Amino acid sequence: MTGVTGVTGVTGARWLTNTHVVDVLTGEVLRDRSVRIEDGLIAEIRAALPPGADAHDLGGRHLLPGLISCHTHLSVVFPFEDTREDESPALTAFRAAQRAEDALRAGITTLRCVHEQNRIDLVLRDAARRGWIRAPRIFGAGRALSTPHGHGEGADCAYATGADGFRRAALGELAAGADHLKIFINSGLAREGEDFEHAEMSDEEIAATVRAAHEHDAYVVAHSGESRAIRQALAQGVRSFEHAYALDDDTARLLADREAFVTPTLCVTNSADWMRENRFGEASIANAQNAIEPHRESFRRAVAAGVQLVNGTDIPPADLVEGVPAAVYEMFLMARGGLDNLRVLQSVSTTAAGLVRAADWLGRVAPGFTADLVAVDGDPVRDISAMGRLSFVMQGGRVVRDDFTVSTR
Ligand SMILES: [Zn+2]
Repeated sequence: MTGVTGVTGVTGARWLTNTHVVDVLTGEVLRDRSVRIEDGLIAEIRAALPPGADAHDLGGRHLLPGLISCHTHLSVVFPFEDTREDESPALTAFRAAQRAEDALRAGITTLRCVHEQNRIDLVLRDAARRGWIRAPRIFGAGRALSTPHGHGEGADCAYATGADGFRRAALGELAAGADHLKIFINSGLAREGEDFEHAEMSDEEIAATVRAAHEHDAYVVAHSGESRAIRQALAQGVRSFEHAYALDDDTARLLADREAFVTPTLCVTNSADWMRENRFGEASIANAQNAIEPHRESFRRAVAAGVQLVNGTDIPPADLVEGVPAAVYEMFLMARGGLDNLRVLQSVSTTAAGLVRAADWLGRVAPGFTADLVAVDGDPVRDISAMGRLSFVMQGGRVVRDDFTVSTR
C-alpha cells in the first residue's frame, strides 16, 4: 500500500547511517553500517554510505528490529470492575488508539492483541492499514471466547458452552477478521478470590475451537495457569500458551517438543506499584504477589527446557513500569529470570515473528525484511539495559520518532 499517510507505504530510497546493526539471530554486531530503506523494506546493508545519499544519521546507536509484543489488551479498563460491556465502540476505539500510538512510539512496531472489547484490535488494525491512525501492526483475536462464568466474564467476551457453542463463537470472531482465537483454559489472578488452578473448558470445546481455527488458517492462544490444563490443550492442538504461572518440568519439555510458544507475562506478578497506580484492589495485588515464586520457577523451567518464549505484558505495553515501557520491563524480567540476552532479544523479534507467522518478513534487520526498526544507546547483546535507552523508531520505512536527530554527513 502506498500513500503519504500510510505507515506501511513509504516509497523511495533513504539511508540510515552511522549505526551498528544487531543480528538478533546470531548476536553478531555489524559495526559502522549504512542501511538502505526502499519502499518500506530493508534493501541493503553496507559499510560505506554512497556519496550524495539522502541519509538519517543515527549517531552511533545500535539498530535492532522493531519490537514485537505478543500479549496485550489495548481496550482494557482499570480497575476491571469499571468495564461496561455495553460501552460504545467509538469510546473503546479512542481509549485503545491512544495506547496503540503510545506503544508504537515506545518501539513496539508489531502487537498481538489477545482479547479486545468491541473487537477494537481488528478496527485499529484496519484503520492503521489505511493510514488513518498511527499504531503498531496488529495481529488481533477480536473478542476472546469464554464460558459464561469463566475468567472472561464481564469483559465483553464471546460467551459459549459446549463444542457447538465454541465452534459458533470461533467462527464469529474469524468472520469478523480475527487472526487467531483466544480461549481461557484456566481461571486467573485478576480478581479477588480467583485462583489459576481451575480448568474452564472440556476437551471437546477446545478441540472444536482448534478445528475452526485451522479451517481458517488461524491458531489458538490459551490463557493458561497450570500444567494439567496446558497438557490438555496441547493434546487438542493449541499452539500458544499465556502466563503459565505453575509449569512443571514434564509439561515444559512437552511444550518444547511440540514447538509450542509460551508468553510468560512476568509483568503480571512483578508490577505491584503499577497495579496500585491503576486502582487494583489490595486482594488482586496480593494474588499477584503470592504467585511471584511459582511464576519465577515456572519461567526457569521453561528456559531450561528450551521452550520458545515470547514477549508479552498484559499491561498496556507502553505504560511505564519501574521507569521503562512494560515491554522493555518484561525483557529485563526475562533476563533476571535466567534467559540470556540474545534469547531475550529474540523473544521480542524472531521468535515472536514465528508465533505470528511472519518470520520471513518481520523481526530482523536484514535485506528483504520490513523496515520496522528501533535504535538504542549501547549493545543490548552485551547489556540488556540498553533497551531502556531506546530513542529511534521506524515503521514501514517511516521515521516515527527520533529523540536526537543529528545532522547528516
Ligand atoms: Zn491478558
